[in-house]
Amino acid sequence: KKKKSLNFIEQRINHDNKTGRYDNKVHTRFPPEPNGYLHIGHAKSICLNFGVAEDYKGKTNLRFDDTNPLKESTEYVDAIREDVKWLGFDWDDREFFASDYFDNLYDYAVQLIKKGKAYVDDQSVEEIAENRGTPTVPGKESPYRNRSVEENLKLFEKMKNGEFKDGEKILRAKIDMSSPNMHMRDPALYRIRKVDHHRTGDQWSIYPMYDFAHCLSDSLEGITHSLCTLEFEVHRPLYDWILDELEVFHPQQIEFARLNLNYTVMSKRKLLELVEGNYVSGWDDPRMPTISGMRRRGYTPDSIRNFCETIGVAKRDGIVDIALLEHSVREDLNKKANRVMGVLNPVKVIITNYPEGETEELPAINNPEDESAGKRHIPFGREIYIDKADFMEDPPRKFFRLGPGRNVRLKYAYIITCDDYKKNEETGEIEEIYCTYHKDSKSGEDTSGIKPKGTLSWVHATSALAITVNMYDRLFNVEAPTADKEKDFKEFLNPESLTVAKNAKVEPSVKDAEPGTTVQFERQGYFCVDLDSTEDNLIFNRTVTLKDSWSK
Ligand code: ATP
Ligand code: MG
Ligand code: MG
Repeated sequence: KKKKSLNFIEQRINHDNKTGRYDNKVHTRFPPEPNGYLHIGHAKSICLNFGVAEDYKGKTNLRFDDTNPLKESTEYVDAIREDVKWLGFDWDDREFFASDYFDNLYDYAVQLIKKGKAYVDDQSVEEIAENRGTPTVPGKESPYRNRSVEENLKLFEKMKNGEFKDGEKILRAKIDMSSPNMHMRDPALYRIRKVDHHRTGDQWSIYPMYDFAHCLSDSLEGITHSLCTLEFEVHRPLYDWILDELEVFHPQQIEFARLNLNYTVMSKRKLLELVEGNYVSGWDDPRMPTISGMRRRGYTPDSIRNFCETIGVAKRDGIVDIALLEHSVREDLNKKANRVMGVLNPVKVIITNYPEGETEELPAINNPEDESAGKRHIPFGREIYIDKADFMEDPPRKFFRLGPGRNVRLKYAYIITCDDYKKNEETGEIEEIYCTYHKDSKSGEDTSGIKPKGTLSWVHATSALAITVNMYDRLFNVEAPTADKEKDFKEFLNPESLTVAKNAKVEPSVKDAEPGTTVQFERQGYFCVDLDSTEDNLIFNRTVTLKDSWSK
């Protein structure tokens, strides 16, 4: 594949290759914390890390950054594996856990103490925060900062042995309390947490902080280019400081802009809030921006990868329009999805001059974009359903659908003329429509000379399958649900993000479609068979509508 120009990450790698910095190797990692399901932002990071390694014939590790036992679980680990695989990436046997390095990390901390570069602080978290100062006001040094190496070693070991309570002691790097970079003002390296870890159980009473664990995990794995999001730019001096002080292999951290999408939220903490508060049905609710939610909704791996390719990598944060994501799935499904006839909101049409009890099978094209998808036959008979929206009692001139006295073509079938209809006078509902068909107007052999303006989709009444269709709209009704810090983002949830069509109908050809199969309902959109769908209870999720070319 050809690329227009090199992005800044590729430029850096080329530069490193020229200077021989990493022996022409490229080794990246994708380092999720297993504290939630992956979302579309993670997909960007996955595509970037695996993509860049692929381009340079390098490798990518999957590393679970599991240093905070309070929020992590094996359920999340399993979900992450599944999602990365589903996106089409393979980490072979290079699966690692930061918790595998707890012994190494402990030893590194001891080394720093021995060098006089780390100390045990007795101050509380609050006191430490208070004494940190502000970017313009230097911090106050801890009264425990000048403890002897021997005392620090002894105290750190006691921390490890569980002899102190949570928060009673903390291990800090000894750097510079007046650094203009707040992250360099004696950052915490290890804290006491007397909780079980999903992998190491109760073996540890202390856990390393992200900044300490991450650079050293990268180093231990021989990562060359550690790609992370922009907010870590200010952590980079600390990343470098730790590796320099310990004189270990030194990967380089490179920051890129995170993906933000409008009309949704993308922090795992907020997504968890939606799950736990039952605002959605789970992490894989099709309205969620999670990979599993998008999969359930009918997004394809290709559509997500193409989307990530299109947005590219930048050094400045921006907000991507969710319409671009929808465009990318539409484009992909247009090529791949078979077409079927489906009616979301059916009303019966009786073709009064069609012989009772008779049916015929009409040929229909499965996918006009893909000849190899072939043809199928769909049943037609005296009673059919069309969508209620396709009929008006008193239509305006430009309504090219059905109305009293009007003609339309039924796709793949005949031209019909509307003669009459039955209306429930109480509710105003149209209950039945009566039409005649023109026998000489059959698709492909039309000699009728009638030129109707519109073509409708339809299903044959007696053979159609009854289905439930979940129709999704944006999860939030404002572009930036978290912009107003005074307000709870959940106030902006779109109450109409899910509407259910309970009486929808589809042609019988999809009877055995497996969950996860996506089809296009002609004129309507793309619909994916839901995970919970069964033979007796067919459920479809609307992935995305077609671009509406009908409402002009
Ligand atoms: P969140 O705020 O959603 O919890 P996180 O960064 O804490 O995100 P991690 O599990 O630590 O989640 O992320 C794993 C990797 O994915 C990191 O390298 C992170 O930078 C990257 N990542 C997370 N969110 C995004 C995003 N929106 N765009 C691009 N990359 C992201
Ligand atoms: Mg993180
Ligand atoms: Mg996080």
